Amino acid sequence: MERIMMSVPLVEMDGDEMTRIIWALIKEKLILPFVELKSEYYDLGLENREKTHDEVTREAAYAALKHGVAVKCATITPNAQRVEEYHLSEMYPSPNATIRGIMDGTVFRAPILIDSIKPYVRTWKKPITIARHAYGDIYKAKEVVVYNDVKAELVITNREGDSGSQEIFTFNENGGIVMGMYNTFDSMKSFARSCFEYALSEKKDLWFSAKDTISKKYDHTFKDVFQEMYDAEYREKFHEAGITYFYTLIDDAVARVIRSEGGFIWALKNYDGDVMSDMLATAFGSLAMMTSVLVTPDGKFEYEAAHGTVTRHYYKHLKGEQTSTNSVATIFAWTGALRKRGELDGNTDLVEFAGALEKSCYNVIGSGAMTKDLALLSDLPEKKELGTEAFIDAVAEELTKILS
Ligand code: NAP
Ligand code: MG
Repeated sequence: MERIMMSVPLVEMDGDEMTRIIWALIKEKLILPFVELKSEYYDLGLENREKTHDEVTREAAYAALKHGVAVKCATITPNAQRVEEYHLSEMYPSPNATIRGIMDGTVFRAPILIDSIKPYVRTWKKPITIARHAYGDIYKAKEVVVYNDVKAELVITNREGDSGSQEIFTFNENGGIVMGMYNTFDSMKSFARSCFEYALSEKKDLWFSAKDTISKKYDHTFKDVFQEMYDAEYREKFHEAGITYFYTLIDDAVARVIRSEGGFIWALKNYDGDVMSDMLATAFGSLAMMTSVLVTPDGKFEYEAAHGTVTRHYYKHLKGEQTSTNSVATIFAWTGALRKRGELDGNTDLVEFAGALEKSCYNVIGSGAMTKDLALLSDLPEKKELGTEAFIDAVAEELTKILS
């Protein structure tokens, strides 16, 4: 079989633990036999992050900006226990946060739907993609607990030192809690732009929801930023693409989402997106079947699985025990990146290959062969539980059949 050629590289970011093992297997068995892979490789495994003082993460992010398409393996975000386990000289920040900071993008998460695993919500037929604005709000807020009768004020000071203030609340002697939070026009605009661009690239309707009736300045500004950008730059393009944008109150959106059949992108403020993405992942079946893509306002893409490094399975693997870790979301991160590379470069062979690899996963699972996490959820009558590598082997066999 002749291998598919690539003209422009994609950026490949390797990672940690069980997903690092899966990463190598996917490349060896599902990509390299079929594609003359052109990639710029960055090892974001924790050992190499330590060795390079995390420089490798920043280099990888700049490379992703340069080439426009990246695929990333799950990585450990160090905590105190990891600092000890890996003898780290410092507690490095989350690679995803570093990459997001440099690329300035929005994260879109979407479930991979399998026929034999029914979403908990019966009306859902197509995936619902969540776009979370991952900047500011309560994640960067200042908070105070007060224990007596104080007055809390909101004070704004300009560069000349002139200030204006308004009272937030005067507490009684039992005190209470206060919070101050912010967002920026730059960040709101780049969020809105990423959402409009991604909706166009996916040809899916875009919903945005917030609580503008209660938050007449804060949330209302988000709503205005979206609406003004839509009217000025995207209304025509959406019309041509046959998709729509609409804003609705978050309460109304929740009701509509549950009654919908899915198939759209739902943009949410930071906290709403945090909560709703976990709710949707569970309602669609499993975190192991969630994909995630970081999209910048000017259309650069970084694909990954939404789950972590599956540490518990990795420790079993190290003890020589059999594992059954689901590689589907990581495979779909690869197909997402290869398809996007193909679309951008006019490489239809590569686009078709991505489709064939995804189809192979659907076919194998549809035949009843799947990893343990899916076997527990699937309503197929005959199921065969496969180990980590055996599942990838089955997909490789199916892929060879489809391609020849
Ligand atoms: P996790 O790796 O997502 O795993 C949590 C549990 O979910 C697993 O123990 C497993 O349940 C199940 N699971 C997740 N993915 C699975 C898969 N592909 N196949 C089968 N089961 C799967 O989350 P975590 O254990 O909280 O975090 C582990 C490490 O990952 C941490 O160091 C964290 O920093 C990192 N992390 C990285 C990213 C990222 O790079 N994007 C995201 C999240 C977490 P059972 O054990 O019950 O089988
Ligand atoms: Mg969450």
